[in-house]
Amino acid sequence: MIGPFFYIDSSELSYKGWLFDCIDESAGEQYGDFRTSPKGHSQVFDTFLEKHPGHKDLEYFEFPRGRVVYNSVAGAHTVYIDRCIRTKIAEVVKAFNIRSYVIGEDDHYVCPGCAAREII
Ligand SMILES: [Zn+2]
Repeated sequence: MIGPFFYIDSSELSYKGWLFDCIDESAGEQYGDFRTSPKGHSQVFDTFLEKHPGHKDLEYFEFPRGRVVYNSVAGAHTVYIDRCIRTKIAEVVKAFNIRSYVIGEDDHYVCPGCAAREII
């Protein structure tokens, strides 16, 4: 499967865990060689926040995140994942039920904590 995901560890939200939005590859959109979910991170996060009222000030880009896409030419998935949650990638692989994958690098998936560490 493909789609965006988050890892949220927030005392403010009393939540620690994944937020996955998985859809079948066939339900994705084709971008060049890749099939990708049409769902954006902000959309997934807003849906999550609806279940946690009183936290409208939180923004999706404050949390580590990533996206699973499918390279239909290579026949393998690419997992874009923030550096700080990369050690947990096996849990993403399991949730999206994927077998062969490569880890993609993308500036989109850098949380404020990782961005701060890169500057120093
Ligand atoms: Zn990070």
